[in-house]
Amino acid sequence: MSGMKSVLRVAAFGWACVALVSGCATNTITGRSQLMMVSEESAIKGSASAYNRMIGGLYQKGKVETGTPRAERAKEITDRLIAQAVRFRADSASWQWELQVIQDPKVNAFCMAGGKMAIYTGFWDKLRATDDEIAAVMGHEIGHALASHTREKMSVDLAAKMGAMVAAAVLSRSDPSAFARNADALQGAAAVAVTLPNSREAETEADQIGIELAARAGFDPRGAVTLWEKMRKMGGGMPEFLSTHPAHETRIQNLSALVPKVDPLYQLAKAGKPTDGIPSFVGAGAKTNAAEREAYAAKVAAQPDAMSFVSSPFEQFRRGETVLDCQLACLVSYGIHRGDWKKLYEKKAWRDLAVGVLQVGYLNDLSYFLLAEAAAGMSLPGAARAYYQRALQAAQAGKTCGGGLADTCEGIEVTRLTQNALR
Ligand SMILES: [Zn+2]
Repeated sequence: MSGMKSVLRVAAFGWACVALVSGCATNTITGRSQLMMVSEESAIKGSASAYNRMIGGLYQKGKVETGTPRAERAKEITDRLIAQAVRFRADSASWQWELQVIQDPKVNAFCMAGGKMAIYTGFWDKLRATDDEIAAVMGHEIGHALASHTREKMSVDLAAKMGAMVAAAVLSRSDPSAFARNADALQGAAAVAVTLPNSREAETEADQIGIELAARAGFDPRGAVTLWEKMRKMGGGMPEFLSTHPAHETRIQNLSALVPKVDPLYQLAKAGKPTDGIPSFVGAGAKTNAAEREAYAAKVAAQPDAMSFVSSPFEQFRRGETVLDCQLACLVSYGIHRGDWKKLYEKKAWRDLAVGVLQVGYLNDLSYFLLAEAAAGMSLPGAARAYYQRALQAAQAGKTCGGGLADTCEGIEVTRLTQNALR
């Protein structure tokens, strides 16, 4: 994309994040703040129509490859990844997942909001990619969709286009937000989103999610490393969709460091049958069965290891090693978010709760108590105990939510519940 356009996009992003506070959301998987002007539902609808249009056009040109061994393999690989994706996001069980193999020498792949995917034959023809490497690519792209990066990019595109409309709306009092719900605008934004590069943070997130998905699906996580080594060798012919991806060396280093972390998951998956646990709703020609999808989502959500995500603050939390030390600087953020924490606590949305508390980082007994409850809910008794103890220590040091007039405990009996838990 051109320099000027990118300046406009960045400006629009900043503007939209300030002006439309509701448009900025915290990602429940990664804890990062994102510009979200488009609802999940709209993003999925817009993406599906952009995808159908694009694939329809390619099909007419005879560029959609079906029935070949590699196309069948690619579908099998993504089916196995999808079965794991639901562990990260239960609601993705209801997505109408779809993969098409596009005959094009480009080394390119994407996954839109709602699970509409494509991979280009350049991966085989140019890179001679192995199954493990294809799993690494598609795991990475699915990671973008799970972490709502595609929706984020649609929002950036819409924000850029809305800039002028908002100015006009201020004069005419029409509703600029209607534009963000307009079907054509959404389809356009979805089509643009797959061509926009991801931010560096988004890339790192997708790498982390992708390598874990692949390992859990029984693909060697070293495939991620060898894939990028092949990309590096390709050199100058850097694929467009990777243009702002982190430097190859950094990425290869980071991925190599993740391999030993997810390798146990790979070994475990390899010991079972590769098709174990693949729900019948994925795959070509699968019929939509809402009840079956919901049942599967509930099943994996109840499994104790369903919450794993190898971001370092989250891993630290799981080990019981999180230490909160932020005070004044985090006070405002604490004030804004603690009401949401209460809701997550009541819903037993343990991962979202932990991520929310970690992101704010405010030191007091309520924060530690909520981390403890989240850890307990995620079957991490050792970590839970450590956080209950830190909640007590914080209270003893005067860092308590129960401060008489300035009570910020959200009606939770933090002291009593903490003492009970440690008994
Ligand atoms: Zn990416």
